[in-house]
Parts: sequence; structure tokens; C-alpha cells
Amino acid sequence: MDVEEKIDALRKELREHNYNYYVLDNPTISDFDFDMKLKELQELEAKHPEFYDANSPTIRVGGMVTKNFATVVHEHRMYSLDNSYSLEDLVDWEKRIQRNLGDVPVQYTCELKYDGASISITYEEGKLVRAVTRGDGFQGDDVTTNIRTIKSVPLQLKGDFPAKFDIRGEIVLPFDGFQKMNEERIENGEEPYMNPRNTASGSLKLQDSALVAQRPLECLLYAIVGNNTGITSQFEMLEKAREWGFKVPSAAKLCESTDEVMAFVDYWDVHRHELPYETDGVVVKVNSLQYQEELGYTAKSPRWAMAYKFKAEQVFTVLNEITYQVGRTGAITPVANLEPVLLAGTTVKRASLHNADQIEKLDIREGDTVFVEKGGEIIPKIIAVDLSKRPADSQPTQYIDHCPECHTALVRTEGDAKHYCPNEYGCPPQITGRIQHFISRKAMDIEGLGGETVELLFKEGLIDDYADLYDLTKEQILPLERMAEKSADNLIKGVAESVKIPFERVLFALGIRYVGETVAKKLAKAYKNIDALSVATQEELEAVDEIGERIAESVVDFFRNERNLDAIERLKAKGIQFELSAEKLENQTDILNGKTIVVSGVFETVSRDELKKLIEDNGGKVGSSISSKTSYLVAGDKMGPSKRTKAENLGVPIITEQEFLGMI
Ligand code: AMP
Ligand code: ZN
Repeated sequence: MDVEEKIDALRKELREHNYNYYVLDNPTISDFDFDMKLKELQELEAKHPEFYDANSPTIRVGGMVTKNFATVVHEHRMYSLDNSYSLEDLVDWEKRIQRNLGDVPVQYTCELKYDGASISITYEEGKLVRAVTRGDGFQGDDVTTNIRTIKSVPLQLKGDFPAKFDIRGEIVLPFDGFQKMNEERIENGEEPYMNPRNTASGSLKLQDSALVAQRPLECLLYAIVGNNTGITSQFEMLEKAREWGFKVPSAAKLCESTDEVMAFVDYWDVHRHELPYETDGVVVKVNSLQYQEELGYTAKSPRWAMAYKFKAEQVFTVLNEITYQVGRTGAITPVANLEPVLLAGTTVKRASLHNADQIEKLDIREGDTVFVEKGGEIIPKIIAVDLSKRPADSQPTQYIDHCPECHTALVRTEGDAKHYCPNEYGCPPQITGRIQHFISRKAMDIEGLGGETVELLFKEGLIDDYADLYDLTKEQILPLERMAEKSADNLIKGVAESVKIPFERVLFALGIRYVGETVAKKLAKAYKNIDALSVATQEELEAVDEIGERIAESVVDFFRNERNLDAIERLKAKGIQFELSAEKLENQTDILNGKTIVVSGVFETVSRDELKKLIEDNGGKVGSSISSKTSYLVAGDKMGPSKRTKAENLGVPIITEQEFLGMI
């Protein structure tokens, strides 16, 4: 086999694997084997630029940057859809069609209306040549480089496809991918994205296609346009598109009557919440393409199609009362208590009002009829007030100035949107919140003790701070409500076992404001024990890597407080770890100082978590995604193909587990 044949064969094979994985959701080879083949192809392509192909599977990782997206005129206009919201609308529409076509039997294809960004992709001789956004329907932006990175978009078609056609679809961002992106953003201190739809359409206009490649976008297709495609109906169109390698959702149905159409709508109005991506209605289309042609278009939309919008995921309801919640840190959150209302498949009774400014801005008052919205995943929020329904005796909302729990005057610091209750040690939700944080999984991880029991123990006067947990006796807790012999034993045992929790987690558990998991690790490493940390000055603290003024100030404040010092003394007496373990001290080095290391895949001699710990213990930083700042990628088995190619493109050294262990 010569080089060109080898390249062709690899491209063909990888294409098939991509299809199995991303379109059929049914992979037939391991990620590792896929990576090896992709790497082989990349190397061959690099050595033989004469065989370059813009549709090679290696293009999926992106890397091309578009400064300005060129405007492209659509060869076939991209129309909007008319909307209907009721059975009557739909029946009227059907009557108009029958009137137009004469009294012939008409079939309808029902599909889901995917909520994302529309796209038109041109294929010539089975190859993707161009992808253009809808724009104003007449012309859109050329986003081809970005679309090529979406794995479910075929770059090369299979089967018996027409020489040239456009295919239309919707680029969507499935919920779980959206959620993951947001979790990562929150972790990085960035604002989370609002909803999957805007994020999907924003993704198409990113300049760096490598960023687009990292987003778990999908392309769902629904229409083929072109001359001489040989297709005669909408339903056949969907089947053909599937055959050629496109991702066409299976939830499409050929219906003989409006009743069947309505049954489809009713079914999906409920079951759409089980789908992995957002939908906002059903699109009903006259099935026969010949009839479609006879019916034609209005100025803006086809006469042969109709979008039936699902009941809006926004509803009006009455706001009965505004109450205020006090968090662990004393932050006040106003909550709207609503007249229960059905929204996006669940009954909504409460919505967050965020802060005083938000209430003032929208002039939200008790007794108001408010407009509540729920975007896929996020807690409901109030977006407007129906002023026409405001009661005559309505009064503007007076934001509270005293804590609803302990009646202390609230404070509000410059630049902070929230009010706080400053009564840290006397305010019940702050006391229990602090103890709940202390026992939580990432802190002391006390088994056999939950948040509700903490509240109960506090109410019964058995605990006032976290150190009190270690003085609890079985005799004290057995009489409590719902406390059985066994659960009492478990609680005592769970508390006792927490003395094994290492110093850095104890430090996190103490609940010093702004001292999260990562900062706690830094401080533990820098000071080695609590005594040294407790006497550190503001300046000394700020000299520690990644510790800023705000954190330093908070740490100093914490150790100035007698109550905290007392609690620490009592915890010490119970044997809680207040210094780094000898083993840890021994194993700690600065070898990896200044290095950011990403780990990916499955490892043999150490677990992934152990690996991360080793990196940190040796002064390195664990990175979550590969960037030009990454020092090394430690690659395990089954690592995703995109990570590897990304590292290669950026010139990040890829090392094995053994090589890493050798380094330290
Ligand atoms: P609208 O934006 O409300 O005018 O609705 C028209 C848009 O719905 C089209 O531009 C498509 O992007 C989108 N759409 C989503 N799913 C479908 C589908 N199954 N058939 C046709 N259009 C769809
Ligand atoms: Zn309070």
C-alpha cells in the first residue's frame, strides 16, 4: 500500500468510527485505539501535505481561526415557520391546506422543533463544502471551519447521495454538556452561561475553532433542499439523510390526520423533558413534496409547515409572600413564595429574587401577578410584573433591615449586592450552616450525621459549634426524635473516625470565609500546622502563592476571634489533625513548582486522585483543561482523542504515568 492509499484507508476507517460514536451512539473501538489511528493519520498528513483534505477526520480538533466571517447568500432561502398554539389553530391550518389542494388525502410528517441555532450545510460530491448560519434568511455567515469540528456532522457522506444539495438542521448543546461547561466555568470563577440555546449559537461565532471543538455541540438535521434530489416526501427525506450519515432524531412520525398530529404533540409535550436537549415545539409538515410546491410560501414562511409551540415555559402566577433566607455566611437571599403553578413539567412554588436591587429594579411586590420563567435546568426566576393586575392597595416592598432569624441589624458592604447578618455566632442558620459545612463530604466527611440532625441537635441545645460534636454521648442523642440505637451508634462512630481527616481538609472544614478547598491546601502546605498559620500576619499570608488581600484579611480575622481559637483548642484536645502528617511532610517537594499538569485517562499503579495529589504535594498545579500554559499532559489509558490532539497541536509534552512518577 502506498502512502496515499494508507491515508485514504485511515480516513475512511476513522470516519466510520466517528459515525458509530457520534451519530449512532454506538462505538465499536476503544478510545485508545481510535487515538492511535488518529495519531498515525496526523503524522502521515504532516509528512505529506500534498494529500491535504479539509474533510479529513483530523480536522475535528479545530485550530483554524476566523477573524471575520464572510457573508454568503443562501442559494435557497431559509424561511421562518408560522406558529400555532392550539388545536384550533392547527385545524384552521389544515382547512386552508385542503382548500388549496382540493379535497385530497394529505399526510403530515411531525418532527420535534429543536431549540438551537439553525444552519445550512452544502455538500458537493458527498463532501462538506460550506456551512452558513441562517442570518436574515437571505444571507448568513460562513461558519464552515467551526461546523467541521462538530463530530456528528459528516465531512464525507456514505451511500447514494445527490451530487449537490443543502441540508438544514439545528445546532444544539445537550443539557449535560451545557451543565458540564457551566460547572467548569463556575470552578474557574467565571459567570455561568444562561441557557443552552444562546450558548450553541454563540459557539458558532467563536473565532477559534479549537474552542468550538471542545464544546459538546450536536447537529440535528431535518430538511434537504436542492434540485434533482430524487426525494418525494418529507419523511423519505429524513430517512435518506440518515442513510447518508446524518444525525436525524428518531422522534419523527408520519401522520394521516390532525388527530394523529395532536396525539404526537400531546405525547412529546410531556416526554420532551426526557430528551437530552431542548425542544420548544413540534413542526408539522405536509409530507408530499409535490404538495409542498403547490402550496408555496408566504412572504416569510412556507404554507406547508406549521410550528406547534409547546406551552410556554413561562407562566403568570401570584406572588403570595417574600421571605428571606439566611445562609451559612450570613448572606440574605430573598425568596418569592408563589401560588403553585405548573412550569416545564414541575410544580413551582418558589423563585429566587437574588437581592434587594433586583426587587427594586422590577418593583416586585407581595400580591403582584408575576411572570415566572424556567430555563431548562436553572431554578425559576421572576422576569416581570403584570402591573395591570396589581392590587389597588399595593405597597412597594420594604427590604428587611434586620435578620429574620436573630433580629440583628443587617449590613451591606460596598460593592456587594447582598445584605449580611453580622451575628456570626448567635444567628441560628449561620451556626448550623457552619456545622453542616464542617461535616460535609469534602470537609470532615462525617458519616452517620446529616444536615437535619445537625439542626435537631442545635435546637435541643446539644451543640453550639462544631467542636461540641466531639462531646456528644449516646445517652444524649438516643432520646431524640427518629434516633434509633443503630443510628446513634453510627453518629458517634462517624464523629470519632473524623480524627483521621488530614490537616488540609480540617482547615477547609473550619469554614474560614474565602478559604475553599484549594486555598486550604495552599495554606496547609505553606504553614504546615495551625499554630504557625494562626499567627501569620496579613503581609506574610499575601506572600503565599495565590493568596490575595481578601483571603489574607479573612484568615487574620478568623484567628483573632476568641471563639474560633477556643473551638480549635477543644478540637485539638480530641485529636483532630492540625498539622501535616509526617508522611506528607516527607513526601512534599517543590520539584513541580510553577508547573501546571493535566491528567487524563485511567492509570495503572496509582488512581487518578492519587496522581493529582502527587502533583500538588510536589508543588505543581492540577489543570482541568489543556491550554498553552499546560506544562505536561499525563496520559493514561482510554484518554479522549481530542485531549491528545489538542496537546499535540499546542506542543504540550505528553508523558506516561511511569514517566511522571520518575519525575518526582
Ligand atoms: P422560527 O425561528 O420560530 O421562525 O422557527 C424556524 C426555525 O425552527 C428554523 O429556522 C429551524 O432552525 C428551527 N427548527 C427546529 N427544528 C425544526 C424542524 N424539525 N423542522 C424545521 N425547522 C426546525
Ligand atoms: Zn441573623
